Amino acid sequence: MTALFGVDGLSRGFGGVKAVDGVTFSVEQGEIFSIIGPNGAGKSTLFNLICGLYRPHAGTVEFEGRNITGQKPHRIARVGIGRTFQNLELFRHMTTMENLMLGRHLHMTTGVWSGALMFRGGSRAGREEVAQRERVERIIDLLNLHAARDRFIWQLPYGTQKLVELGRALAGEPRLLLLDEPAAGMNLEERQDLVFWIRDIRDELGVTIIMIEHNMQMVMSVSDRVLALDFGRVITGGPPREVASHPEVVRAYLG
Ligand code: ADP
Ligand code: MG
Repeated sequence: MTALFGVDGLSRGFGGVKAVDGVTFSVEQGEIFSIIGPNGAGKSTLFNLICGLYRPHAGTVEFEGRNITGQKPHRIARVGIGRTFQNLELFRHMTTMENLMLGRHLHMTTGVWSGALMFRGGSRAGREEVAQRERVERIIDLLNLHAARDRFIWQLPYGTQKLVELGRALAGEPRLLLLDEPAAGMNLEERQDLVFWIRDIRDELGVTIIMIEHNMQMVMSVSDRVLALDFGRVITGGPPREVASHPEVVRAYLG
């Protein structure tokens, strides 16, 4: 069986710093796969290389048997890879609904704005707008965002904003979802909820997940496999318990 997704020998430097240095791993369909490592280990850079924000200096990225190395971000989104950002990338003066609609724009043939303007006309754009809204309503149901639906992002608690960011990524209907520190800044209760959402997204939508996360409790409870990075390189990878007890991982986290 071939993996859904894989990187092979992926590398990228910035000046003298080897941010990502020969990283190789693969992820199977339906896995929840976590990436851990101290600050500066190269985790976010790895996502930026996968998503086409940075070009790799060496190595390849494969998804569903296709080589997608070095393609532009909108192409990567279109082949079915979505992501959230470590620092929220939402429009703060727009509502939850509007942000989720923007997350769908890569599936719209007529464009968000013409759809919004021609809504009353019963035009093709209008009908498409209705279909898009129905899909967004399903995400609102899935993530229980009803209370946040028509509120501006800036009015929402941070944990809810993170959930909207997750919804925005899901709105693009990815088959692979990359989450960059989804639990950062969340309290215990929000983190516990997030574990349920992540399982639901995998189980109900069939989306494969790669998650960068610092909170070890969360990583241990939700992950099928874990990859540990430090100084841009893979330290170890495997089942959560094995990785968590690896001497270099223990040192990096406790030392
Ligand atoms: P992590 O997400 O694991 O905390 P990053 O991928 O953000 O780590 O960073 C890895 C290394 O690459 C760090 O030394 C960081 O300073 C460097 N780096 C990341 N992006 C850039 C950039 N755009 N320009 C210069 N250096 C960068
Ligand atoms: Mg990071």
